[in-house]
Amino acid sequence: MPFNAYIGNSGAVRTVREMLRTGRVPGTLLFTGPDGVGKKTLALMLAKALNCGRLRDDFCGQCHRCCQVDAMVRAAREDLARRRELKASGQRIEGLVYFDVQLIEPMTRFILSEQVRELRRIAYTRPFDLLRRVLIVDQVQTIHWQAVDVLLKVLEEPPETTIFILISPNAAELRPTIRSRARRIVFSPVGAETILQLLEEKSALPKAERQQAARLAAGSVAKALTFDPAAYARQIRPWLDLLDSVAADWSGGVAAEEWKQLIESARALSERHDEFEDVLKIGYSLLRDLLLMVEGAEESAVSHVDLLPRLKRWSRRLSLAEIERLKDGLDEAYRLRTRNVNQQLGFEALGIEVMVQRRGNQEDSISGSGPAFGD
Ligand SMILES: [Zn+2]
Repeated sequence: MPFNAYIGNSGAVRTVREMLRTGRVPGTLLFTGPDGVGKKTLALMLAKALNCGRLRDDFCGQCHRCCQVDAMVRAAREDLARRRELKASGQRIEGLVYFDVQLIEPMTRFILSEQVRELRRIAYTRPFDLLRRVLIVDQVQTIHWQAVDVLLKVLEEPPETTIFILISPNAAELRPTIRSRARRIVFSPVGAETILQLLEEKSALPKAERQQAARLAAGSVAKALTFDPAAYARQIRPWLDLLDSVAADWSGGVAAEEWKQLIESARALSERHDEFEDVLKIGYSLLRDLLLMVEGAEESAVSHVDLLPRLKRWSRRLSLAEIERLKDGLDEAYRLRTRNVNQQLGFEALGIEVMVQRRGNQEDSISGSGPAFGD
């Protein structure tokens, strides 16, 4: 029953259950695929199934061992959260102890050398409480470069008592020597219909917002489940204003109101550092929809169906080159996101550049040599 509760990626579940049924679970598994599609969830389910006292190719979720796995993962998560809070880097790694089932995640931006050394230390010992030791390494591509060789050594001399589940969004980011030691299971984005069904069971959001969450999740169950309509409305607002102002009809010259809106939206886009990546992702999704409209794609292909009238208006007024310029601007903002640069000025300059570009095109079109714009 519990594996049946898993949403999407039925092929991955089938493969894992077949391994359990035949008793042929490889020493190292590599789960790859986009973030939020359930790689970690399936890894934790597999850890339970490998230890469940009642079932062979599944887990009951209720026996003593299943409960122990839950408790170990919970404790590992709490321990990591506590360590991340510590200011002194030496304290963060002090007294690191792993359980039989251990979820190992980046302590900082990296999985630190000490985390990998503790993994090596415990990998060759028998489990203390459970049948099988399962070490799950999430975001394995973030292992500090100094520690990659340590992990590699362990995988080259696989311990009999431990199963590794390595998780990474993109296998290409890993060293070929790590990839070649692991049996890979590839995960795909989950379909919007499946996500919608899940939200109907689990989400307290009203119907329209559930549909919006499913549409905008882009195949990520985790993203759909954590969708926050208020934050989303706050983050998309300045994009709508910015695109409205650069795509405004100002055949009679740019009004003061539009300048004000442009500057105000540039400020709003850049004011919350903690949300900046989310804000940029929304910008990308709007430009993607805009490109689809310009290319004459089906209306059902766009993510922001609620914005269709607006997307149509923008697509009539902005040329392909102008949309591409906006996308380049976003790439630049993304590239500089972790640096201390003034993103507001960047968005202002981008908006002005596209406005000037459009103005040039309009003048050309008046003299008959360029494309015609306007509603
Ligand atoms: Zn059980």
